[in-house]
Amino acid sequence: MRIMRLLTIALTLLIANARAALTVATDFEGGSARVVSVDEATQTIRFMPGGDPARGWPCWWFLRVDGAEAGATLTFEIVGSDRTIPQVGGYKDKPLPVGWATPVRAAVSFDGKTWLHTDPGAKRADGFTWRAKADTPSVWLAWGPPFTPRDSAALVKRLAEAHPFAKPITLARTREDRDVPALHIRAGGRPDAERFGVWVQARQHAWESGGSWVCRGVAEWFTSDDEAARWLRERADIFIVPVMDVDHVATGDGGKEALPQDHNRDWSDAPHWPEVAAAQKRIAALVAQQRMDVFLDLHNPGPGDLASYFYAGEDSLLADPGRARRDRFLALAAERLEGPIPHTAMSKPSGTTYHPLWRQISNNWVTAHALHHTVSLCLETSWNTPGSTIDGYLTTGRQLAATVAAYLRENPRSPQR
Ligand SMILES: [Zn+2]
Repeated sequence: MRIMRLLTIALTLLIANARAALTVATDFEGGSARVVSVDEATQTIRFMPGGDPARGWPCWWFLRVDGAEAGATLTFEIVGSDRTIPQVGGYKDKPLPVGWATPVRAAVSFDGKTWLHTDPGAKRADGFTWRAKADTPSVWLAWGPPFTPRDSAALVKRLAEAHPFAKPITLARTREDRDVPALHIRAGGRPDAERFGVWVQARQHAWESGGSWVCRGVAEWFTSDDEAARWLRERADIFIVPVMDVDHVATGDGGKEALPQDHNRDWSDAPHWPEVAAAQKRIAALVAQQRMDVFLDLHNPGPGDLASYFYAGEDSLLADPGRARRDRFLALAAERLEGPIPHTAMSKPSGTTYHPLWRQISNNWVTAHALHHTVSLCLETSWNTPGSTIDGYLTTGRQLAATVAAYLRENPRSPQR
């Protein structure tokens, strides 16, 4: 009996001490990583972003580690993707610099839903290292808090179910046969002619997940009990698209400069992407009704941009009162975008000096096709600051939506409105 008991104890100890093998999974929506090595002894996972450069810059990554021991410290070492960029431009035939893929603080989750910042990581010559204590056997790590097409559909559904004035729409069906969810907000019975037109979209660049969180903040504020939100939705048609490039977000690719055309260089007379064509069509309809008032395109900037800023478009496209209205909007935004994510009132041009295809950038296309007074801007929200968390992004979104209401309350179009 005693031998049996000793054997049982020995076996139990053996099982308890046997390290479960660490495995890495990316077979889920938005997942992306190529595993270079897993070192069980040091609990170190070395990986690179998994994206196909033909489907955009391989800077997005999102992985799950299974088999972690409770309380163990996992070490995550990223190296840059070794795949070369096929697109014409500064990176052609070279791998993308790893800096695009290395926030100081990565996003970590222990349930796949709630995302926190890791402690600041450490730069290495060939990449970056983050550490995370495993509270659970599965640990998710990503470039930033993920926001996938499923999250976009869930957001639209939740707001539409909660508010009779918010309706779900499908903006388009993508080339790879996925829906592009969007929300249409319109309260009360005022006729079209007495309503402003507002368009807010995010994720023309798939890797820039922060843009979708800002967009969610915008949508939540427009549907909130805030008196100014209520005022606006009774006097506007508001369209919100949390994820434009659904296909590349779904497959965990970067989207930026995807072949054959970057989404935000696709705003031509013959767009390649159905979601761009569908957005143009709805915006053109608002223009035809003389009520395309505010267009906002939401992005994340470069790793070194530690304050958010607007791309203000090409000045030569704007006559007065367009320039004055744009500057007024920027001033109102600067008052409201007060953190936690820092903002600089210094906007940047995105015209002739910015890119050869500047006319096919969404906010320039809107300016060129819209009305004299239309405000058309791109907000680049910083992703590499301590405030660039889900809460930080949502706050920026609420602040931006409040700016839209404050701006339109000044009656930019007609004094009698
Ligand atoms: Zn972008």
